[in-house]
Amino acid sequence: MPPSPDQILSSVFGYDSFRGHQEAIIQHLLNGGDALVLMPTGGGKSLCYQIPALIRPGVAVVVSPLIALMRDQVEALRQLGVRAAYLNSTLEWEAARRIENQLLREELDLIYVAPERLLTEGFLSLLARTRLALFAIDEAHCVSQWGHDFRPEYRQLTVLHERFPEVPRCALTATADEPTRREIVERLGLEQAKAFTSSFDRPNIRYQVVPKQNGRRQLLGFLKREHPTDAGIVYCLSRKRVEEIARFLSEQGFTALPYHAGLPADRRQEHQARFLQEDGVIMVATVAFGMGIDKPDVRFVAHLELPKSLEGYYQETGRAGRDGLPADAWMTYGLADVITLRQLLAASQAEERHRHVERIKLEAMLGYCESTSCRRQVLLGYFGERLPQPCGNCDVCLEPMPTWDGTEAARKALSCVYRTGQRFGVQHLTDVLLGRMTDRIQSFGHHKLSTFGIGTELDEGQWRSAFRQLVAAGLLTVDLERRGGLRLTSECRPLLRGETTIHFRRDSAPKKTRAQPSSLPSGFEDPDTQTLWESLRAQRLKLAREQGVPPYVIFHDATLRELVVNRPRSLAELGCLPGIGERKLEAYGRIFLEVLRAHKERWGRSS
Ligand code: ADP
Ligand code: ZN
Repeated sequence: MPPSPDQILSSVFGYDSFRGHQEAIIQHLLNGGDALVLMPTGGGKSLCYQIPALIRPGVAVVVSPLIALMRDQVEALRQLGVRAAYLNSTLEWEAARRIENQLLREELDLIYVAPERLLTEGFLSLLARTRLALFAIDEAHCVSQWGHDFRPEYRQLTVLHERFPEVPRCALTATADEPTRREIVERLGLEQAKAFTSSFDRPNIRYQVVPKQNGRRQLLGFLKREHPTDAGIVYCLSRKRVEEIARFLSEQGFTALPYHAGLPADRRQEHQARFLQEDGVIMVATVAFGMGIDKPDVRFVAHLELPKSLEGYYQETGRAGRDGLPADAWMTYGLADVITLRQLLAASQAEERHRHVERIKLEAMLGYCESTSCRRQVLLGYFGERLPQPCGNCDVCLEPMPTWDGTEAARKALSCVYRTGQRFGVQHLTDVLLGRMTDRIQSFGHHKLSTFGIGTELDEGQWRSAFRQLVAAGLLTVDLERRGGLRLTSECRPLLRGETTIHFRRDSAPKKTRAQPSSLPSGFEDPDTQTLWESLRAQRLKLAREQGVPPYVIFHDATLRELVVNRPRSLAELGCLPGIGERKLEAYGRIFLEVLRAHKERWGRSS
């Protein structure tokens, strides 16, 4: 009798119940069906194929584009006592040969392979001589040419079905939008597969968008206030900006490392390894960084510049808080970001159809930034999911966004754009509205216009905010031929004719404190708990160093937290905590009980 999924869940993984669709997916694969699994980052996709891999006879082949991370994934499985290996271009010929032999001798439960390796004739014929439990196609959205993770080899994965029609296949992704999903089904020949769609909500992530004044200062304030010692990722658009921000944060005493495609491969590798293996490292990166980073304790993801689409934004912010503990998605956003992205779009060489898609995506991104209602509702709505109630865990919910009737101001702004000839930027337009006698105004004779000085009821910041919202709402567009001058669009007619009104959000000053203190693992209140937490982390780091693996491969933060809260006194008690299966209990149980005992002695507490 093979063990049941329940038994494996508790004895190998140390968890006592399945999440969401996990159990149904596992059953479906055990019965030989194909599955399409759509689950957000951190939802628990891996178990969906790992458990059937342990139950079905033969080896499960996991296709993954993330060569750099295969080692850690496999190491994490070995720590659980699972017979796993990987094959990719980083392995020496000898080592690869050894693994191929293990495969033929049926000594493996799971093998991770890069797609280009899998598709070689050599490997396919090896598979033909091996007993196969299933195929798992991870990061399945890589077949989509619209996404930024497009991998041409993924298109050829249909060969798996053609050659091994009887082996069940499971495609998994955290990218949810409808076009991508359709493309996965079509390109991978999964028409017969059963789709399992989970809610894409990540309730533990707090979304926050702040109007940009000085992005770097605002970032610094956010980090000092909320994440002084936490690991996180800061995303920037350009390499130059990445270098600059990493230097700035380092000067401010943070451990911040740059990551972008322009760095030599060995430095990128080194920085990624430090991010995974040390505590509290901040990665400052372009979007080149992050796919498949399954570091569970990333406490924040910050965007200093506007991402190109909500898909990208959701994927990037999704890297925060995989362990389910509170995490932040924080972004600064200003008019300059809109202009930069519109410029990139205009300069793009892509064909018109593609550009049209990009434009729509940018508009959705702007809509999210300017939203005056719950951000999570906007985000999930974009992915076709309806959240009936406001979430209570985004900036708009926590501090309702005050709005003001901007109809009059908008008319003045639009008329000022018109009368100055639709070729000037925000600074000049604001100067005209405020009636400032600058050199430029004099040389163009703009002090003679009827709009000169008609806007003194607002200050410079408020006019900036109004112009940004007019651009975001599509009433003004940025004239890219004329270095960012603003032009009217046909959208503004109803407003100018007095047929509609417009409401602006009142951009508030950056907040000093958060509305609710977060219960971050590092935020234990009393010194006793805090000391114990530190001792446990130190022990974990020591074990991780000895074996050359990331600390979370030993125990997740969530598991350490359970140790602090429950203070088990025996192996039996310890074994009941989540994340401690038989193998880890045996390998590390005594060591951690000893840390707990020593701590109790020092603090003389019995609880
Ligand atoms: P994904 O690949 O979907 O991003 P993972 O498979 O890495 O997510 O799982 C995210 C985290 O959740 C991991 O730490 C994993 O051990 C944990 N996890 C998965 N399933 C369960 C479960 N049923 N009970 C408790 N923790 C789980
Ligand atoms: Zn909300």
